[in-house]
Amino acid sequence: MTALSFEFYPPKTDEQRAQLDRTTARLKAYDPEYVSCTFGAGGSTLSYTSETVRHLKQHHGVEAVPHLSCVGGTQQEIRELLKLYRAIGVKRIIALRGDMPSGMGFPGEMRYASELIAFIRAEHGDAFRIEVGAYPETHPQAEDALADLRHFKAKIDAGANAAITQYFYNPDAYFHFVDAVRKLGVEVPIIPGIMPIANFSQLRRFSEQCGAEIPRWIARRMQAYGDDAESVKSFGADVVAGLCERLLAGGAPSLHFYTLNLARPTTAVLQRLGHR
Ligand code: FAD
Repeated sequence: MTALSFEFYPPKTDEQRAQLDRTTARLKAYDPEYVSCTFGAGGSTLSYTSETVRHLKQHHGVEAVPHLSCVGGTQQEIRELLKLYRAIGVKRIIALRGDMPSGMGFPGEMRYASELIAFIRAEHGDAFRIEVGAYPETHPQAEDALADLRHFKAKIDAGANAAITQYFYNPDAYFHFVDAVRKLGVEVPIIPGIMPIANFSQLRRFSEQCGAEIPRWIARRMQAYGDDAESVKSFGADVVAGLCERLLAGGAPSLHFYTLNLARPTTAVLQRLGHR
């Protein structure tokens, strides 16, 4: 069976917490290697991720992995979080630069994810396995695609063990990215990040923000379905399952699902892949 991981965001209300509990219970049945919890930069959101990680470990007995981003934070804040994560038995971290929320003045003491990785390694040696972000379609703020590949390699050289990609719907983007970084001497696993399609207008909004391309043939079909939510979901699951099959056949080592805290869009894809 394919190794799987599922990404959640930290719930902030009781209703969201109950939803995450239901989703975790359903997805746990697919025996994930781990589940991860995203991290919002700055201020009052700091503790949501660590509280969620603790809850997922204690109440669901899953390996729970925090995302940690450096933008907008101080070294001392990151040091405290890392200490907490070690104390509660976290073994793995997804280390990112993050994005500055609009209106936040302080840029943070580390500018790039590579600096965060070097910091974690300097303070904690090999206590954490570190995963980083990768961008098969190029990070939207990169000077150019080749510079982005070099910056990606710098994160691996700083001590990252593996990478998870931004989502994409064109498998060639992934295969070309893997070839390009292998030529630069990067040997770590590159795990495709998979975004199931459940709500097309929401997906279009996300994709504009993060620079992910939605192929025209998918967009046109989704537009034609309009408010027919069942057709959107069924076509979306077929498309994403087909993408996963091609990625696995081409050597992808495992799949990381962006669940948005919903079980159904992900299980619809997994069922089509033969996971029951
Ligand atoms: P970096 O690797 O630091 O790169 C950012 C940009 O800077 C790139 O354009 C790169 O080319 C450029 N760059 C890097 N080094 C240099 C250098 N030395 N000189 C000049 N340019 C340089 N965001 C969150 O806020 N919270 C999350 O939990 C979260 N989870 C994510 C999970 C995954 C799997 C992925 C793929 C992304 C996630 N993100 C999250 C989004 C991520 O924070 C953004 O995409 C962010 O803009 C870049 O983060 P990064 O770690 O890839 O940055």
